[in-house]
Amino acid sequence: MDVPWLDRLVRRHNRAAHDGTRQVAKRRLLPFYLSVKVQDPDRWASWGISEAEDVALVRLLQAKPRRTASGVATITVLTKPWPCSSNCVYCPSDIRMPKSYLSDEPACQRAERCWFDPFLQVCARLRALTAMGHVTDKVELIVLGGTWSDYPPSYQRWFIGELFRALNLTDDERAAEAERRQLFYENLGLPREREELARAYRDLQRRIDNGDITYNAAWREAYGEGPRRLVAAAIEGSDPDSGRRGPARADNGRSVFPGAPQPFSTDDIDGVHRANEQAAKRVVGLVVETRPDLITPESCRQLRALGCTKMQIGIQSLNDNLLALNGRAVTAKRVAEALGLLRLFGFKSHVHFMANLLGATPEGDIADYERLVTDPAFLPDEVKLYPCCLVASSALTEHFADGRWRPYTEEELVAVLAADVAATPPWTRISRMIRDISATDILVGNKKTNLRQVVEAHVNESGLPVREIRQREISVEGAAVESLALETILYETTISEERFLQWVAPDGRIAGFLRLSLPKTAAVEALHRTTATSPETQAARGEAAAFPDAPEPEAEISPAANAPGTDGLPAFGEAMIREVHVYGKVAALHRTGEGTQHLGLGRKLVEEACRQAAAAGYRAVNVISAIGTRDYYRNLGFADAGLYQKRPLP
Ligand code: SF4
Repeated sequence: MDVPWLDRLVRRHNRAAHDGTRQVAKRRLLPFYLSVKVQDPDRWASWGISEAEDVALVRLLQAKPRRTASGVATITVLTKPWPCSSNCVYCPSDIRMPKSYLSDEPACQRAERCWFDPFLQVCARLRALTAMGHVTDKVELIVLGGTWSDYPPSYQRWFIGELFRALNLTDDERAAEAERRQLFYENLGLPREREELARAYRDLQRRIDNGDITYNAAWREAYGEGPRRLVAAAIEGSDPDSGRRGPARADNGRSVFPGAPQPFSTDDIDGVHRANEQAAKRVVGLVVETRPDLITPESCRQLRALGCTKMQIGIQSLNDNLLALNGRAVTAKRVAEALGLLRLFGFKSHVHFMANLLGATPEGDIADYERLVTDPAFLPDEVKLYPCCLVASSALTEHFADGRWRPYTEEELVAVLAADVAATPPWTRISRMIRDISATDILVGNKKTNLRQVVEAHVNESGLPVREIRQREISVEGAAVESLALETILYETTISEERFLQWVAPDGRIAGFLRLSLPKTAAVEALHRTTATSPETQAARGEAAAFPDAPEPEAEISPAANAPGTDGLPAFGEAMIREVHVYGKVAALHRTGEGTQHLGLGRKLVEEACRQAAAAGYRAVNVISAIGTRDYYRNLGFADAGLYQKRPLP
């Protein structure tokens, strides 16, 4: 029973189905098989399928096995259309989307179909993943959409709260609520108004593409002060912030419409977090994206309070001239400060880095990336590495027209990316090499969706070393546990000694890893001082405050919630586990897995990290646990400690 066998079977069946009406598509087989198994057990029993055959068949029929190969089911959701307080020259502007996203991208289309409602987006993804046969009891939530820090805190709370709530409900409760919510949105407006708004969108988008109006101005016209009645209302329906825009509300601020979204207080967030600790679908990671200049101790504390574990930040380059030329309101120094802060707070960093920016050269790009992965001020955990492309709505079109920007040839681009892959150390993962922009939106630049394969083939042919994580991951095949060796790689950053503990197979593939940070006392003190007084930080704060839709100040988080350190930073002399990841097919939480998960590999990594931290003189280890993993760490001897969990060391 393998893929060629299945292909032959389907082809034979379809050749025999002469009238075409009984032809089968491979992607429909799994939903059909699972529905018979659940809804018609007698028929399923009559097929005489053994337990082992059932497992093998489901694995074979899964449409996209890689989606859960890294150990968790990923659910990507998008925030509502919203401007960004920066204005980068290459950034697309689509009035129907948050800044930098285009409505042709698959995740964007899904979000738009769901009215950008987080609850409905989660429901839709769970349905799709389940229909493909994926287990969804461990979920990583990835929140995309321009710059997270530019959204009002109440919207941020509502958005995250709804994501958790959707995962906390039972399947029946979730389906019933999704139906009510869908009806609420559908009843918001009349078809005539929808048409009006679609016309207004088209008109605004034409003006953006022609460079007559900026995205931010267009956004105000569409959603702020102009012809915004219907779609604005739909989006406002998902914005519990805005009584002036939203549907009728009672005195307590809650909508009186059945199925309408309701606001979330900080207590509500605590409630959905606690419920998720025991839910059937647990959050094992929560990622949002923002800019480095908006990373401050305050924003880190707020992100932790929402349950975030990883930050995606757009760096794009470390060359200050290039950054300025491309409209980035940030310097390499500020990027270093942001990465240091994220590390101290225990976040994993997933940075975006671009080749072929305005003013870049292939040689300069190679040197720039090498600095990112070798200079102790940076050293990110994960990189999304992609080339700049020309899209109609970006200011880059002018620079292309006057000859100041040209796309690299394929040869140049592949050479740059191959050199970057070769330079990437074994503790860094290159997650992607293209942005999800459809080829029809790219006017000029790379349109190959398999760019990564081309680059990897070039790397292999050149005999360049490959050490980055993604190419070494044990995927759906699993691993022989007895053959794995536990290795530790040490590396220094400006503010810490980092230890990357990895389970390695004899062929060099990696079955799991742990990131342990041992913060340097002197560096932590210096960072505390400079972060509080840095002119760049203050400028960034001033800029954010000047932005018309800047977030209102967040309510104080109580000092107790800031533990382990009084200001939310890890206390001196305490280590931090920033990530524990074990690869292999997702195994249901309450069942015995068949892949590399649930074989004690994670536990052994944690024990070894604690041993090493104690030997290095640290008195406790904190872990930046995701909400759904809190129970796991309690079982490993960690106690809840404010925004983290802590285990004292002997
Ligand atoms: S910071 Fe990001 S979203 Fe904002 S303009 Fe730049 S690329 Fe676009």
